[in-house]
Amino acid sequence: MSTDAVTMDKIVSLSKRRGFVFPSSEIYGGLGSSYDYGHYGVLLKDNVKARWLEAMVRERDDIVALDSSIILHPDVWKASGHVGGFTDPLVDCRTCKKRFRADKLDEESCGRKPSKHPGETPDCDLTDARHFNLMFQTRVGALEETGVDVYLRPETAQGIFINFKNVAQIARRKPPFGIAQVGKSFRNEITPGNFIFRTLEFEQMEMEFFVPPAEADEWYRYWVDERLKWHLRYGLRESHLRVRPHDADELSHYSSATSDIEYLFPIGWSELEGIANRGDFDLTQHTEAAGTTLEWVDAGSGERFVPYVIEPALGVNRSMLAFMIDAYDEEVVGERERTVLRLHPQLAPVKAAILPLVGKDAAMVEKARSLYKDLRRHYSVEYDDSGAIGRRYRRQDEIGTPYGLTIDEQTLEDDTVTVRDRDSLAQERLPLEGVRAWLGDALQRDWTTPKPA
Ligand code: ATP
Repeated sequence: MSTDAVTMDKIVSLSKRRGFVFPSSEIYGGLGSSYDYGHYGVLLKDNVKARWLEAMVRERDDIVALDSSIILHPDVWKASGHVGGFTDPLVDCRTCKKRFRADKLDEESCGRKPSKHPGETPDCDLTDARHFNLMFQTRVGALEETGVDVYLRPETAQGIFINFKNVAQIARRKPPFGIAQVGKSFRNEITPGNFIFRTLEFEQMEMEFFVPPAEADEWYRYWVDERLKWHLRYGLRESHLRVRPHDADELSHYSSATSDIEYLFPIGWSELEGIANRGDFDLTQHTEAAGTTLEWVDAGSGERFVPYVIEPALGVNRSMLAFMIDAYDEEVVGERERTVLRLHPQLAPVKAAILPLVGKDAAMVEKARSLYKDLRRHYSVEYDDSGAIGRRYRRQDEIGTPYGLTIDEQTLEDDTVTVRDRDSLAQERLPLEGVRAWLGDALQRDWTTPKPA
């Protein structure tokens, strides 16, 4: 029997208990909307990034990778429109002294009566909305007087646009082609966090796909479709995903079409990934501001044009959160309750746990450690010989390890091990020497979540 009532509290508590995510600066009382990632969080996040890079770069021949600086020339953000326009409208309440997003009052809680939204009662004394820039500013240079104001990037995309000429020349690519980047971005968000859904610093996986203008609509539709398939491929259930095209009045200044891929988070349907047709806005802006023409020139025919850009942009942390929520399950097996993360095996932080049935049995320990040493050269695996076997299994279930390999009495007689499947709990015996190849195959197999749609 399994239940689907996954709350954010359950995810927060599992994350802390098992060391995926901790509140940042906790011993100093914490810092709002900031989190630190523990061992399994790092491994899961790395796997999310690896699957994205695989789909974007390794499995295609029309996209190349880039890693640009977090601190760019400040003029980049003037040209991109971020200095003037990357703002949230904020209101302050003179009564409760809290600050709210003016466009999200219906999602915020009043500072005095948490059951009410700000502005709902006559006691609320809200100021007019003021625009607040989301970029973090800092200073480069040793001396206060001669230093230069710079920004921590609020998106990775601009680093791609300003490198368009370099990459297009070196990569010998002709549009349509793309440039993909994974890296940290920073936003001075004032809306309270919802765990790692919205944080001050986060990682983005962005890809700018440069196309002939006449093909832009077609490629936009292609990327909405392609990105939806990626989320499904790694286990998000179809019933928890939807595509929401933006209304005309929602579109950013640079975009002629945008769709959000939304996920049914415990806080309701919310943006997971955005796919935008940015037109030629960015390349044109940087051409004008920097005085370097960013366009495509065909060396043979001399044909030239400014490509349009289709951008799929996904947050690593938000993606990891969606995968954890979708995977989270509680069930009663026999008399026992277990919590299990039914993660796609290719996302799971640990692929297999190697467990001697009796942790104090020297012969079992020796066999188990030798299997562990062999497997860890190829996969992320874990050895555990402490405590009752049931408790060790439950620990692995909670971190989403798809396979348990148990060394028992029989192993000592015939060199076979038991493989326990995390989802079905089915067990089978395998010869020790075939375990590595078996695991390699198992991790490559197509996988769909056993959770009900
Ligand atoms: P939102 O409407 O949620 O603020 P956005 O439309 O501003 O997001 P984009 O600028 O399109 O977001 O950024 C692309 C992706 O980066 C988002 O879909 C999301 O996955 C992620 N992202 C954006 N802001 C944050 C944040 N503060 N914390 C975590 N992830 C974020």
